[in-house]
Parts: sequence; structure tokens; C-alpha cells
Amino acid sequence: TAPELIRNFCIIAHIDHGKSTLADRMLQLTGVVQSRDMRAQYLDRMDIERERGITIKSQAVRMPWALADEAGVLTPHALNMIDTPGHVDFTYEVSRSLAACEGAVLLVDAAQGIEAQTLANLYLAMENELEIIPVLNKIDLPAAQPEKYGEELAKLVGCEPEDVLKVSGKTGVGVEPLLDRIVQRVPAPTGDPNAPARAMIFDSVYDTYRGVVTYVRVIDGDLNPREKIAMMSTKATHELLEIGVSSPEPHATKGLGVGEVGYLITGVKDVRQSKVGDTVTNAAKPAATALAGYSDPKPMVFSGLYPIDGSDYPVLRDALDKLKLSDAALNYEPETSVALGFGFRVGFLGLLHLEIVRERLEREFNLELISTAPNVVYEVTMEDGTKVEVTNPSEFPGGKIKEVREPVVKATILTPSEFVGAVMELAQSKRGELQGMDYLSEERVELRYHLPLGEIVFDFFDQLKSKTRGYASLDYDTTGDQVADLVKVDILLQGEHVDAFSSIAHRDKAYSYGVMMTAKLKELIPRQQFEVPIQAAIGARVIARETIRAMRKDVLAKCYGGDISRKRKLLEKQKEGKKRMKNIGSVEVPKEAFIAALSSD
Ligand code: GDP
Ligand code: MG
Repeated sequence: TAPELIRNFCIIAHIDHGKSTLADRMLQLTGVVQSRDMRAQYLDRMDIERERGITIKSQAVRMPWALADEAGVLTPHALNMIDTPGHVDFTYEVSRSLAACEGAVLLVDAAQGIEAQTLANLYLAMENELEIIPVLNKIDLPAAQPEKYGEELAKLVGCEPEDVLKVSGKTGVGVEPLLDRIVQRVPAPTGDPNAPARAMIFDSVYDTYRGVVTYVRVIDGDLNPREKIAMMSTKATHELLEIGVSSPEPHATKGLGVGEVGYLITGVKDVRQSKVGDTVTNAAKPAATALAGYSDPKPMVFSGLYPIDGSDYPVLRDALDKLKLSDAALNYEPETSVALGFGFRVGFLGLLHLEIVRERLEREFNLELISTAPNVVYEVTMEDGTKVEVTNPSEFPGGKIKEVREPVVKATILTPSEFVGAVMELAQSKRGELQGMDYLSEERVELRYHLPLGEIVFDFFDQLKSKTRGYASLDYDTTGDQVADLVKVDILLQGEHVDAFSSIAHRDKAYSYGVMMTAKLKELIPRQQFEVPIQAAIGARVIARETIRAMRKDVLAKCYGGDISRKRKLLEKQKEGKKRMKNIGSVEVPKEAFIAALSSD
């Protein structure tokens, strides 16, 4: 297709504002998916995506759409819709998807109005200089307020309220005019067809049958089957076995030219060899410079993952090896814990990424897992100048520390104005620094904060929701790091460290963590034949203490000598229990107690 007839666009929206549903209607109206084959959220391929109603991985679909001029003459166009992941953990992937487009449909729920992700995605789209098409969705809802939110949206993007399109992804109302508008407003791609090939990777997906499927947008030149291609970040070369477009099922083509969007198959088996943001070029005639904006995915949140049944450890290791093939951002290394046994320290992009990985491990590999409290990465500089990167709190160094740096995010919070006070109080208690505040309308306020990521991964989101009755929304992006007064709090059982419970906390909050954790463990650890102190300590200084009183434990005492088979059963049960016991020094603790203490409630 000639570049003048191509339109590359994405739909950006806050979660649940109807992006997937609108995409479904577009597939139907353009005829690429027949109505009888239609199922809800056609593009959300993974089970977890469909169940949670979130889009984890972006996909691209090519759809034909003919635009009529005044005389009624139809000109066929090719629309490439690039579906962006809708969550903060995947900001980098969102930004690469946006970089593959010239325009963005900014979708807002007509019953909800603008939310934090609407803004965060709009800012990203503006940074990429995309043409913004403002659209109100769900106008079929009785609770829709198209006038009010239409004005809000117009004010935000700087257009007239009449220019805001009103659609329903559910009923299909207004979707045809929207497709026309995309052809009219979104600029056609430009690029040099005679230059050496340059294509940007905006997604790469592992497929059991086809290996890695790499989604690209061609900027200059062209890519053709059987050619040798090179990845510009690694210089690795591959043969192009197949090249094609998805609409939405894959169709092989004779090649991809300037402005086109499609997929490549090279037979590689690991998504790490096809990295999002990287530039693909022709190995025989390589481009001189790569496209801007490439960076390696960097894990921001770490957690220990342990099988509840220790004999599942090899299964967990194999499962992680398999997941890694389809998830370039997944990082892990083996770790052992006194309390939890053998497991892995795993790095994630964020909390949702952690949840998704854990859920996939449990669901697809039938594992039962426990994870330690998530933590961020700290950079510790010692007095002698050596630097240590700490991804596990129990490895926080002792000795003379000069400074500790922690990652910071730029957070956008949207809240109804009645909750502004509560949100500010919460942000302040989490060491937030207010950067700015805007009234989008009389009752909706945008607050911008710098906040430590460590506070966000703790429980910020839950508290924000509960303090605003679920009305506030949050989006964030990492901006850098800062020096902070952080200390390691250790938990000790009869003087022995329980590694899984060490935590890095701001000095002001160390005490409350210590009190909370010692009290929790006192509840959960059964009495022993001797007294067991539980302490929380910073270095050698104890900051909280509880005591488990001694008790002589004898399961048979309750049986009054009677029923023999009952006695045997109890003894067997006790033996069963013994297997799952962990020894911390001379204290015997059932693994379940540690698991319960780590489960948040
Ligand atoms: P996404 O998270 O932005 O992809 O949103 P979805 O497309 O998954 O939609 C979220 C929810 O809103 C689902 O329950 C949809 O059925 C519903 N929904 C989406 N579009 C419309 C619409 O136009 N009208 C109505 N009434 N509901 C809609
Ligand atoms: Mg969706």
C-alpha cells in the first residue's frame, strides 16, 4: 500500500473506558472479523487479559476502510490499529506503540469523565506528536453525561466541544464517522522508500508454534521475505522466514514498505532476541543510525517467589524458564531463605506485572506459591565509596553507610474535589512532594506528585482507593532517584534472623513496621517448650518485642488414653506437620505461619 493511503493509529483510554469493545466494533465494521466469529474483546488473547479485562500485550491489526469524497467516490485506505497496553507497569511498551503511530483516538467514558490514565496516555501521545482525536464512549449508558464530559475533554485537548465525537462501542453508534475521521485527520506516514531499511519493534510475542512473532512499523526502506535482517542494538542477524500483516489473523505478504505495520518471523525462540524499541535493518545494507528511543526493560520491583511445597522447586524453575521466552522483562535468580526454603528472587516492571506472572505460574504450571513483600531497588554507598545495589532487603549491608538512594516516580492522581484533602494527607504521609494541581472542572482535580516508588508498591493504591471511595485514579512513571533516610528492620526469633521478614523502611516508619510484624508473628507461631522472644531490630538496636510463652505441647494429652486409632491418626498428623516445620535456631515454626504472615490482608 502506498504511504498516502495508510493511517496508523492507536486507542488510548483509562482502563474500562471501552477500548477493547470499540476495537471489536471496528473489526466488525471494516469486515475483517465476521459477526458470527465475533467474541468480546477479540484482541485480548491471553486468558488472564480476558478475565481481568485488561490488555497486557499490544497487537496490531490492519483494516480496510474506504472514505467517500463529496462526489461519493470511494478511496480505499489501510488502517493499522495498534493496541497499547493499558497499565502503568508497561509505560515503556505504551510509548513504543505510540511511536509507531501518527494519530491517537483518546477515548473517555461518557459516564466517568477523564481519569489519571487518560491524562498519562495523552501526555505520552503529545510527546510523540500524535494527532489526537477526542472521543466520548458509552453514550448509550443512561448515566452518560456527554455534554458535561464533552466540554471537559474539549478543554483538555484544546478543541471545540462540537469536535468531540460521541460513540458507543457497544451498540456501534458513531463508529463509522470515527473511522472516517481517522482517515481525514491522522497524517499519512512519511519515510524514505530508497533509504536502507529501518523498522521499529513495538511488540514481540512468543507463540508455541511459530516461535517469536515480532511486530514492526517500517519507517524507511522495505523488508522482504528471505532477506537477512539485523537487530541494531545487538547486531544479531536472522533470516526472515515470513513477513506479513495481521487482520487480525496472520497473512503472509511479499514485504512491508514505508509506513506499513506487520509482523516478522525469524525462527528465534526467545523474545529477548527481538526487543521492543529496537530497530530492524537489512543485514546486507544496514542503516547508519538506529531509531531513537530504545531502552532495555528494567525491573523496578523485586519479590521472592517460593513454592509452598518445597518439592515443587524444579517445576517453578522450569516454569520461569518457559515464561521468560515470552516476557522479556522477567528477571530472576535462585535464592534460599531460612524460613521459606528454595525459591527465586524475581524482578518485575511493577506490581501488576508481579501479579500477572504469579497468576500465570499458578495457573499454567499448577504451582502454589508464596511471595515476599515486594521491594524496590536501593543503591547504597558505603563510607569507603563502594556501591551496592540491593534487590533483597536481607542483603542490605551493615557497617558504615554514607547514603541510600531510592527510586522516585512522577505520579498523576485524579480525584473528585471533595477528596483533595484526604489525598494530600495520604501523599504527604507517603513522603510525597506536591508538584502541581489543576482543576479540570469544578469537581475534578489533577494532583501531580513526586513519590518514592517504595511507598507506592507498599500499599499506596489500596489506601488511595479506600480514602476516596474508589473514585481517585493513579498513574505514574519513574523519573529518577533520591537520597532518603532508610534503614533495614530485621525480625529475630530467639535472636535468629528470619530473612523473609527483613524490610527496608524510612526511619520514621521502621518502628510501626517492627510493632506490626512482631505482633503478627506472635499470633501465628505456636508455643514451644520454652519462651521465645520475637524482636524487631535496626542493626543491634531492638525497637519492638513480643514474647511467645512456653507450653508443653503433647497432642496425646487430649485423648484420655481411649481410642487407639484416633491416637494413631493424631501422631501421623503430627509427623505430617513436622515435615513442614522450619527450624529457626531451636524454634520450630510451621511453614504455614510464615506464609500467613506474608499474605497481606
Ligand atoms: P478497556 O479496559 O478500555 O479495554 O474496556 P472494555 O472494552 O473491556 O470495556 C469495559 C467495560 O465497559 C465492559 O464491561 C464493556 O462491556 C463496557 N463497555 C464498553 N463499551 C461500552 C459502551 O459503549 N456502552 C456500554 N454500555 N458499555 C460499554
Ligand atoms: Mg481492554
